[in-house]
Amino acid sequence: MILALTNGAQAAPTSVSVLPANGARFLSGQRFDLRVEGKGTGPFAATLAIDGLETAFSSGAQNTSTTDDISSAGFGGFNLRGYSNLRPGVHTITASFSDSTGTVDVSSKFEILSAKGSRDPMRNVIILLGDGMGTAHRTAARLVRYGATLGDPNGFLEMDGFPATGMVTTHSLNSIITDSAPGMAGYSTGSHAQNGQEGVYPANVINPFFYPRVEYMSEYLHRTQGKSLGLVSTADLEDATPAANAVHTGNRNNGTGIFDQYLDESDAEGSGEYGTGLKVLLGGGRRWVLPSTEFGSSRAAASDYAALPADLLDGWNLPGDAAGGSDPERDLLGDFGDAGFSYVDSKSALDAALSGRRPPDKLLGLFAYGNMNVALDKLAKRRNVLLSGATTFAVDDYHAPDQPMLDEMTRAALKVLSHHNDNGFVLMVEGAHIDKQSHAMDAERAVDDTIEFDKAVGVARDFAEHSDRETIVIVLADHECSGFSIIGALNTSVAAAAALPPDGAVTDPATQPARQKAVGTYDAAGFPHYNILPDGYPESMNIDGKLLFGYGASGDRYETWLQRPRPLVDSLLPTAIRTELSAAGFPGQPFHRSQPDGFFLRGQAVGQDQAVHTASDIPISAYSARAAVARQFVGVQRNTDVFVKLMRAVLGGY
Ligand SMILES: [Zn+2]
Repeated sequence: MILALTNGAQAAPTSVSVLPANGARFLSGQRFDLRVEGKGTGPFAATLAIDGLETAFSSGAQNTSTTDDISSAGFGGFNLRGYSNLRPGVHTITASFSDSTGTVDVSSKFEILSAKGSRDPMRNVIILLGDGMGTAHRTAARLVRYGATLGDPNGFLEMDGFPATGMVTTHSLNSIITDSAPGMAGYSTGSHAQNGQEGVYPANVINPFFYPRVEYMSEYLHRTQGKSLGLVSTADLEDATPAANAVHTGNRNNGTGIFDQYLDESDAEGSGEYGTGLKVLLGGGRRWVLPSTEFGSSRAAASDYAALPADLLDGWNLPGDAAGGSDPERDLLGDFGDAGFSYVDSKSALDAALSGRRPPDKLLGLFAYGNMNVALDKLAKRRNVLLSGATTFAVDDYHAPDQPMLDEMTRAALKVLSHHNDNGFVLMVEGAHIDKQSHAMDAERAVDDTIEFDKAVGVARDFAEHSDRETIVIVLADHECSGFSIIGALNTSVAAAAALPPDGAVTDPATQPARQKAVGTYDAAGFPHYNILPDGYPESMNIDGKLLFGYGASGDRYETWLQRPRPLVDSLLPTAIRTELSAAGFPGQPFHRSQPDGFFLRGQAVGQDQAVHTASDIPISAYSARAAVARQFVGVQRNTDVFVKLMRAVLGGY
């Protein structure tokens, strides 16, 4: 995407670029698409050379209208699909793009890395991603779970105990601040993507599923080593983090197509020729597998894709039945079943499916219609104790009364993946609500979910340590969310805080809101103590002298310092359930909560909206029975370096 030089003095095409972007890195043999595109007046033509050798495109397209499904209006584009290069080192792409008025030359460089080496290869990769989890989330979870005395923590989290810890940059291809799609894709492809996009390079292409692809770790290792893939998340599985391990799309919100691609490119027949080898998919998102006519379905033509272009199918060895097609009425649940997946929709069903000596070959678990509920709300139902101020259990209102915890899903995934494939697996486990509840500025739910995530970390480490010594486990985040910080502790009781006079009308800076005076800073914060129940979670997050949190990337809110009885209406839910929740009084945005009791805090980053991501580095912790594998992750590293180091672990080049 650099060095655009115009030949000739006349008008010439504009916005001419070549992809991948300059500086991209790939593994030896890793597939990716090249594309030359530009805007102008057709007819268009293009040339392509790699290291000076002229190379043919696998497709060319020019467009004159918005109905052209290959390039956006006014753009022409030429693709070389499924390219790979075995020769380590820096390579140069030179290309030209012509329209009827002139020609523009462009060039870019990419690097090929070898991850192979003679050390013992790791067979399995487990990536535990606490979405939005910054350093303060980890500290907060530790303080709540273990407490501190006389300056020392009374215990450490599972992730704290990993032998190697470092820091990771989080930027995406087009911003210092990433969203979850390129955040995860940096780890799973080694390439930067643009915000909102996963497994692709940005291009002026109308259909987001036709964007130039880059091969995922899961695909590379399935194709070259026959490994399987497992994805576990507390989010709706259409969400960016799980999808950025298996689905190629320029629009992270296209759930119908995303779920179709999970199955259609899973290589269900086990050919090893293409696809991800997906065998485990556990989380939320039932709305995408139900035909559009059923209650709770969100399937729609607008979020699906038509048949993939022929050259994409060819370049990536995709069979005809992976081609897709706009089909909101599809019975995708039935199709998962036909492909050999056992289906469970509750914790009880999950337990039953895994109770036998032989676990299912493949496992699909969809425990909620959209996002699963958070630990705080799942635990309230399990303990049969309503949260203070609540009159119902949120999981009932969400139509998902019996949901597993993240560690229970992780244990199930490991059982299935380790039982059925001696070639090993890639497993990604996401604690999604650390991010979502930080966006919502709901600290109690964010911190309780960090504890839930840490229990899943413990399950993964236990597997790697005791059942199998050929596994690399990493714990990290895709980015930090909300500028989360621990500012002190409540200097009074919860009852006293609740009884403070309404602060909502206080707007004069000369008048200090009563709730601002309730923040104990420095010495006044002391050492808050949370009572931990046998289930491993605090009995209550809403204790006297509780930890208090601030948000550096906040939206407007009214702060009471009290636990919120109900979560926000989740954005990733079918319309029917969102409507029910709104009618039942669930707040839509943080700003809608607690007026006028709380004191008004003007958002630093946005207005009456949710807190946003920040550009902060995030911590990474690594475990392997072989110390040298984990030690790779010590220090400050680029997010795309994590991919390279994981692949070195698998290919023996660490
Ligand atoms: Zn987020």
